[in-house]
Amino acid sequence: MIKGRWCLVNFTRIHYLEMPMIRRRSPFGVLALAVTIISSISAAAAQDTTLQSADTIISNGKVYTVNAKQPWARAVAIRNGKIVSVGNDAEIAKLRGPATKVIDAGGKLVLPGFVDCHIHFLEGSISLGQANLEGAKNPADIQRILREYAAKHPGDGWILGAGWNYAMFGAENLPHKKYLDELLLNRPVFLVGYDGHTSWANSKALTLAGIGKDTPNPANGAIVHDPKTGEPTGAMKESASRLVSKLVPKPTHSEKLAALRAGIRWANENGLTRVHSAGGDFEEFALYDELRRNNELTLRMYIAYFLNPPELRPKDIDLIEEARKKYTGDWLSGGVVKMMIDGVVESHTAAMLEPYTDDPSTKGKLFWDPDKYKAAVAELDKRGLQLFTHAIGDYAVRTALDAYENAANVNHTQDRRPRIEHIETITPTDIPRFGKLGVIASMQPLHAYPDEDTLRVWAGNVGPDRASRAWAWSSIAKSGGHLAFGSDWNVVTLNPWEGLQMAVTRQTTEGKPEGGWMPQYCVTLAQAVEAYTLGAAYAGRREKMEGSIEPGKLADLVIVSQNIFEIDSHTIAKTKVIKTIVGGRIVYEADAK
Ligand SMILES: [Zn+2]
Repeated sequence: MIKGRWCLVNFTRIHYLEMPMIRRRSPFGVLALAVTIISSISAAAAQDTTLQSADTIISNGKVYTVNAKQPWARAVAIRNGKIVSVGNDAEIAKLRGPATKVIDAGGKLVLPGFVDCHIHFLEGSISLGQANLEGAKNPADIQRILREYAAKHPGDGWILGAGWNYAMFGAENLPHKKYLDELLLNRPVFLVGYDGHTSWANSKALTLAGIGKDTPNPANGAIVHDPKTGEPTGAMKESASRLVSKLVPKPTHSEKLAALRAGIRWANENGLTRVHSAGGDFEEFALYDELRRNNELTLRMYIAYFLNPPELRPKDIDLIEEARKKYTGDWLSGGVVKMMIDGVVESHTAAMLEPYTDDPSTKGKLFWDPDKYKAAVAELDKRGLQLFTHAIGDYAVRTALDAYENAANVNHTQDRRPRIEHIETITPTDIPRFGKLGVIASMQPLHAYPDEDTLRVWAGNVGPDRASRAWAWSSIAKSGGHLAFGSDWNVVTLNPWEGLQMAVTRQTTEGKPEGGWMPQYCVTLAQAVEAYTLGAAYAGRREKMEGSIEPGKLADLVIVSQNIFEIDSHTIAKTKVIKTIVGGRIVYEADAK
């Protein structure tokens, strides 16, 4: 429909332009002219009847489209959930009919809706109702937050929280149960670290889980013990966290729905119009579908199946294929598989090519046997599925690149857009492979946030040489790689404006360190915006329908409080969303609060 209308407009225009030439050329030209005029008139008439007015017009905006052919505009017309025209106010006003809703952008910046390419949505949504430890500077801060939380949520149930960081625990960089036991809560406490890879329990929770001196470590996990007494310290790495987390009562159906409603609202409030789920949501497809049917899903969801080691089983394939077939629309879709082949640098579980600098006894290790991972990648790629691989250590990044290269070779596939998630360390020779192999670099700017955790723990663990290639966004982009940005919420906030500021400054909100940490890897603001919009859409195979403000695409847009292109980059994080529009519908409005 839309395409046809645009053809018609162009057709009419071409005839008008050709008229003088026809007149000069021959007597037949007169006839041709008449025919041309008639066809033009009838085309225009046809245009009037088929060209319905817009449902919504956004006028008086500074529209940054992320469309290279028309980077800036003033107004946008929307019909049936899609953008039908982008132009100046006078052009777009022609599409105004009696029933058209006009949104005056008041001269503010209008951008495509933001996409978060790496999120754990249900988990994040549930965390909105738990103790938030983000920003706590020391164990005393944590104790204060937990005391307040316990007072607000009385009873004897679990106290759950997330967001503590490693740096606050001194030289060991790991939490200890004593800080929680001191609270004398007589309730089990279970707190997940900001990166989700290490957890922290009090004695009550450890007892309930039956964890003692002699409890064996599970595969791909470790219970941390006191070197002197052998007692568990309350810190648990990777899969060991499950020993406790499995005891936490599961939220009910209605609790999950309530959490998701709050999560969706929070995402829309921050300007997100789509997210790519990297784990924890596949099992909840039906729940998201329920919200969609009730017209409550105002955030588009692309949801990955989380494939656990040791191998790809027929049962996994059935589940993946079933979801791909069942969920195909613009709101909710499957057809993507997440694999996690290593851990994180802070706890030495990221797989490195060379030993850790602070602990030369370990290089970390892959969670997958490389051959089984490679075989799984090849099989999934053959089926046309998209792949997300979590790889943080330089050895893990290389393993993922090798497996993707192999899959493209054996399957003779093109443009599958496999992704590597995180890429915290990388060897120089692997940087150009992203561009060469068409592998998307899905990175989360706020993971490089240069606070004490990053500068002391992270950089200390990998040492100066590897730290000199930390989160090498601009190098990957310069060598032809596609960047896609996200948050990894609830590892860090899902606020993309904070992510944008970090991407262009590599400084904390206080402006530290001066000049930025490894500033050579900053990207430009235009690059960063693209990585959250068109680049993100490309990274989800949706760039034909989303990611920029251009006719034919879904009407997903945001109007924001300040023009980020004209302000000091250290204030980008202060940007507030005024309106979020998804599929032509206003789903968040600041002043409607
Ligand atoms: Zn993640």
